[in-house]
Amino acid sequence: MSEFLQTPIEFLKGVGPQRAELLKKEIGIRTFDDLLHYFPFRYVDRSQYHTVAELPRLDGYAQLKGRIIHVSEKAVGKQNRLTAKFQDHTGIIELVWFQGAKWIKPILKLHAEFQVYGKAKIYGNSWNIPHPEIVEFEKVKSEKGLQAVYSSTEKLAINGLSSKGIARLTESLVEHIKGKIPETLPITMLSELRMISREAALVQIHRPTDEATAFAARFRLKFEELLFLQLEMLMRKQISIRKMRGAIFSEVGKEFSVFYDKYLPFELTNAQKKVLKEIRKDFLSGQHMNRLLQGDVGSGKTLVALLTMLIAIGSGYQAALMAPTEILANQHFLTLVDFVKDLGIRIELLTGSVKKKDRVQIHEGLENGEVHILVGTHALLEDVVQFKNLGIVVIDEQHRFGVAQRARMWKKNTIPPHVLIMTATPIPRTLAMTFYGDLDVSVIDELPPGRKPINTVHKFEANRLAVFGFLKNEIAKGRQVYIVYPLIQESEAMDYNNLMDGYEAISRYFPLPDYRVSIVHGKMKPADKEFEMQRFVNGETQIMVATTVIEVGVNVPNASVMLIESAERFGLSQLHQLRGRVGRGAEQSYCILMSGIKLSKESKKRMETMVRTNDGFEIAEVDLELRGPGDLMGTQQSGELNLKIDDLAKDGQIVTLARDHARMILQEDPLLEQSTHIQIREKLRKIMMSKPNWSSIS
Ligand code: ADP
Ligand code: MG
Repeated sequence: MSEFLQTPIEFLKGVGPQRAELLKKEIGIRTFDDLLHYFPFRYVDRSQYHTVAELPRLDGYAQLKGRIIHVSEKAVGKQNRLTAKFQDHTGIIELVWFQGAKWIKPILKLHAEFQVYGKAKIYGNSWNIPHPEIVEFEKVKSEKGLQAVYSSTEKLAINGLSSKGIARLTESLVEHIKGKIPETLPITMLSELRMISREAALVQIHRPTDEATAFAARFRLKFEELLFLQLEMLMRKQISIRKMRGAIFSEVGKEFSVFYDKYLPFELTNAQKKVLKEIRKDFLSGQHMNRLLQGDVGSGKTLVALLTMLIAIGSGYQAALMAPTEILANQHFLTLVDFVKDLGIRIELLTGSVKKKDRVQIHEGLENGEVHILVGTHALLEDVVQFKNLGIVVIDEQHRFGVAQRARMWKKNTIPPHVLIMTATPIPRTLAMTFYGDLDVSVIDELPPGRKPINTVHKFEANRLAVFGFLKNEIAKGRQVYIVYPLIQESEAMDYNNLMDGYEAISRYFPLPDYRVSIVHGKMKPADKEFEMQRFVNGETQIMVATTVIEVGVNVPNASVMLIESAERFGLSQLHQLRGRVGRGAEQSYCILMSGIKLSKESKKRMETMVRTNDGFEIAEVDLELRGPGDLMGTQQSGELNLKIDDLAKDGQIVTLARDHARMILQEDPLLEQSTHIQIREKLRKIMMSKPNWSSIS
């Protein structure tokens, strides 16, 4: 990168040491380059005027033209608060200054015409604009084009770096970048896709002349960002295929065959068979398997995992199954123990709550090869957990495991163990391409036969008695019921109270001895949780009152109703996961969403979507639309998602385009050796070097 762009931001005109420090602390801008890549999140058209009457329809920022009809000043604390009544032909609002009355007041000439710009807020029952920009209309320079709006922080704003202040900085920066921005894409690609140069894009994203140029700039930068992401993924896949040997399991082995012929409790679905074939092929290839197994809740992934592990065991290897929570690990453990009880296979469970003494024994068994399958939580990742010969790792509900954690498992054997990642969270195609480009994907797109679609309804508090009556009917038929309460971390105490109030109400409405109620929540000791869970699993209790701890994986086929309290407080994928707890047996199952009457637009959409469809993929698409990709994947914290101007939900087409081009480039020139690809290679090398996890394993 050019030296110019590496210049510390302090040396940009209008910055200086103090603001430089703030820019660094508040928004991570250290260099000219950082500022250049600090993109506006939207634009306003300053050539347009709004009216007072329109304010309720706008999303905040407004530019108005009108007259000051009254000015008043009032001492509030140490400051004087200045208020001006401002009128246009449609109405009156107030302009308010909490500071700087001294300088503003002389400007406010009564009855003169002004241009006012700012963020309108509702205060009491009337609209006002605090600290607007205000210019006498005669003096308004006609502003052409769009003005970029940047996100700022309060500290920055106080120091003259509100959105407008930042805009002044980017403006002065882009004036100086001419000839200093190297092109990263081949000219032929630019002309083929009718894309503007990188330099032009970086200027126009900050200073577009109109909507069309803003679009062209965004398109170019998005495409580039996505192209490199795709190239990175494909490159990593190439590297792992070239370098990473994988153990070969040439036979399915005795354990698999015996289980399949004698103990398999039901015929596999075609989708399960298809996936097993794909996995078998990987095992024969001599290459390392890195496969994502997607299948909606209840599609039977656990059985596929077991069969896969049995193949490894048949070739003399060990297997590990990792789950995100203790309850889930427990449940997997019990399921597997039950499946293979007659096969002479030793399975152990390793979680945080396993006692030291037992743990030591498990470690021993793993090291001398007596333990065939290890089931557990994150505890499996610890370095003290060593295997004699680990052949495969299955990871359940992978959205909670990052790339780095996968890599830690890879290191547990001289030949990296094969990896199968199972997820019930359907990942929209565009996201799958973006995040899991390095994985092969298998899909179970079929539920076991005999499942009836779950009937989902949305109800309000007024319907509660009817809902409870319905639960009683179901219980009378011998069914079991979940009642789930939300949990939001910020107010754990409040949620706990909600849950307990609910529990009491339910215990009153469903009294002993006819009804028995289990309760499970985050504050309980793991052993107590387990005990209560187990009572419900065994059918000793008919009602399970719980927080979202039961969200993933739990399997009680006799449960037929999922009642979700305050459903508006759950995200879509969570609701879908919860609903997936029922409908696992042959009975008609129900999901009841209880919510308050007043719902935000988004909550309403979530409820409607749940009622309308059972299709996990469709739900994931809506979820992506409502929440954006970072949130969905939980990657915001881990920093894997770095798409500054991307909105994957809306940019599916650009993702596809970028993917196709990345493929084409690597097909034609796998090592990026051609002269036209030098810039691409350099940039990609930098990107890949900056992520150490990977370089150490590939
Ligand atoms: P998930 O994919 O959500 O992890 P599970 O593996 O928990 O689903 O399977 C859900 C239920 O379906 C379990 O009770 C399991 O025993 C059952 N099941 C799995 N495969 C089949 C099949 N081929 N036919 C009938 N039932 C099946
Ligand atoms: Mg599961």
